[in-house]
Amino acid sequence: MTATSRTYWLEHAWLGTHVEPGVTVDVAGGRITAVHRETPAPPPGAEILRGLTLPGLANAHSHAFHRALRATVQVGSGTFWTWREVMYSVADRLTPETYHRLARAVYAEMALAGITAVGEFHYVHHAPGGTPYADPNAMGEALIEAAADAGIRITLLDTCYLSAGFGRRPDGHQLRFSDGTAEHWAERCSLLKERDHVRIGAAVHSVRAVPAGQLATVARWAEQRRAPLHVHLSEQTAENDACRQAHGRTPARLLADHGVLGPRTTGVHNTHLTDADIALIGGSGTGTCMCPTTERDLADGIGPAAALQRAGSPLSLGSDSHAVIDLFEEARAMELDERLRTRTRGHWTAGALLRAATADGHAALGWDDAGTLETGARADLTTVVLDSVRTAGPLPRLGAETAVFAATAADVRHTVVAGRHVVRDGAHTLVPDVPGALAKAVEALRA
Ligand SMILES: [Zn+2]
Repeated sequence: MTATSRTYWLEHAWLGTHVEPGVTVDVAGGRITAVHRETPAPPPGAEILRGLTLPGLANAHSHAFHRALRATVQVGSGTFWTWREVMYSVADRLTPETYHRLARAVYAEMALAGITAVGEFHYVHHAPGGTPYADPNAMGEALIEAAADAGIRITLLDTCYLSAGFGRRPDGHQLRFSDGTAEHWAERCSLLKERDHVRIGAAVHSVRAVPAGQLATVARWAEQRRAPLHVHLSEQTAENDACRQAHGRTPARLLADHGVLGPRTTGVHNTHLTDADIALIGGSGTGTCMCPTTERDLADGIGPAAALQRAGSPLSLGSDSHAVIDLFEEARAMELDERLRTRTRGHWTAGALLRAATADGHAALGWDDAGTLETGARADLTTVVLDSVRTAGPLPRLGAETAVFAATAADVRHTVVAGRHVVRDGAHTLVPDVPGALAKAVEALRA
């Protein structure tokens, strides 16, 4: 055994199709080297993971700084657009230092929730007013460092954000987001380096924030690097209306016409779509990232996730605005929203919802080799207790149903990322006081 190799014994393991008792997993160099089934007792020296172990969860859509808005934005009424004004006031106060402190705490909260990789849709690039920092990627690097500090992997989805709306220059708040042109965005992004725990991807903020004539520049940048490309797509009907008015077509059609859709692309939300949009997204293999807790929090509406998947769009899940950080809640919300909409049950099995939260989520972030408990996969393990007040009672073989429909993030006992035990017995091993770190980081951003 080398220093980096170890053996885990999983009391119960979800193997993609079913739950099996007594599974032993050998790990070396951050990857699973062997999976032994039918091992009813832990081998000598194995680390024992009691409960149900899943592959690590992928949070495919995050804006780390929105965590500072939790609860604050629940006072009063309004819409997405009034919520956005409050969100901008926090964005105005971020510096590379305060952003690093906040993101470190937020990513630690994610690790405690069993998340092993995050897709950070990052657009606060420059100092207030739009002046670049000495290191033009100081903000992105702060997020990359934060993920390393919290022990999780990150796909930095560096976001192109150039305009306030169709034909409108960025407003005061948005100057920090803009590189001026997509060419300048690409030059800055090209300076970012991938590392063992880091992938660099691209994002188009939305069809309102990138002029149509510059969409292809972002798509080409991602294509040349075989990098993931994400885009907020049809979250709001007002955006659809403005896009139709400016371009005579829907946002999905506009993106397709400029080469943005395809199998490495993920549309985030995909809420207000026509049947033709659904066919276009599914037919091109473009993924869909649903963020149900944010979509309900912002009164966005319920997207046609079931129809999108039937059309060929792989599904992933994200906590987006971090109203809560709980991938089990995201997974069940997708199914339960569809039940409310259709008044029928059982649109996805628990296993299908877990696949969205694991393998398909990691793939949407460019980690094709994560999210399964198989030989060769990255050794990411998330263990959920089956003896809490929420999870006790059901037969262990119904562990997937228990995890998805009853567990919360608080039921995660262990999180192992690339063979490193980041959460042990419910405690973060790298960030000693996560609630304290969150409280301090949010306090620093209060007006
Ligand atoms: Zn978002």
